[in-house]
Amino acid sequence: MVHFVGAGPGAKDLITLRGKELIEQADVIIYAGSLVNPGLLDYAKAGCEIHDSSRLNIDEVIEIIRAAEKNGLMTVRLHTGDPSIYGAIREQMDILEAQGIAFDVTPGVSSFCGAAAALNMEYTLPGITQSVIITRMEGRTKVPEKESVEALAAHGATMVFFLSAGDTERLSKRLIDSGVSEDIPCAIVYKATWPDEKKVICSLKDLPEKAKEEGITKTALIIVGRAVAQTGYEMSKLYDPGFTTEYRKGKNADA
Ligand code: SAH
Repeated sequence: MVHFVGAGPGAKDLITLRGKELIEQADVIIYAGSLVNPGLLDYAKAGCEIHDSSRLNIDEVIEIIRAAEKNGLMTVRLHTGDPSIYGAIREQMDILEAQGIAFDVTPGVSSFCGAAAALNMEYTLPGITQSVIITRMEGRTKVPEKESVEALAAHGATMVFFLSAGDTERLSKRLIDSGVSEDIPCAIVYKATWPDEKKVICSLKDLPEKAKEEGITKTALIIVGRAVAQTGYEMSKLYDPGFTTEYRKGKNADA
């Protein structure tokens, strides 16, 4: 059996309990060495076979899994953050399915949640936005035209850009050219929840300069939107003293 496990954003104690238990039981671990904290491998049992997938192609990954299956061994495939986001797990699962190898998925804390925590930030502020757009600029992987930076920016929601820190110049320019205010606040969070985490809040026009100053070109998220300022929002209805919910009666409420 193969368990796809979300390793969390970086800090070793931000994996789920289930994920940690699976690592402890694993006979074979294939982890994404470019982004997964190697400290998580300390949870592995003695004698566990460990492979860094950043040095492997998909055929080699599958071959390791097949060999483990033949010997009745359990494999953990450890992916950074949550495996459902830019995790390239579907292609692995399809091959396993075709070969009759059983698998399941254990979620993880995505780096966009780690970055919000680093900034003490709420993405969905009432009165500002109720949506978060998770996206990226195209690289070798194409982005559908309807999901271009320009098209998505039109919504005015909080935008979180993965895999785009290598060209903040272009990102900032494209957003501004599409009509986003150059003064809108944005944040760049490098290695959220790792010991060497860095975070900067600035205006969209200053983003490229700040990224350069900090030497950030990868392993970072760029968050753009009015919510980044964390001010000017409306109070929630959820905790409004005058508001009745399913769980509590509001002050001065009739029923
Ligand atoms: N599945 C992962 C994302 C993998 S794509 C998740 O849920 O987080 C890899 C990209 O994720 C990186 O280029 C970077 O943009 C982002 N990333 C991963 N870990 C990060 C971290 N700790 N801090 C900031 N960005 C991170």
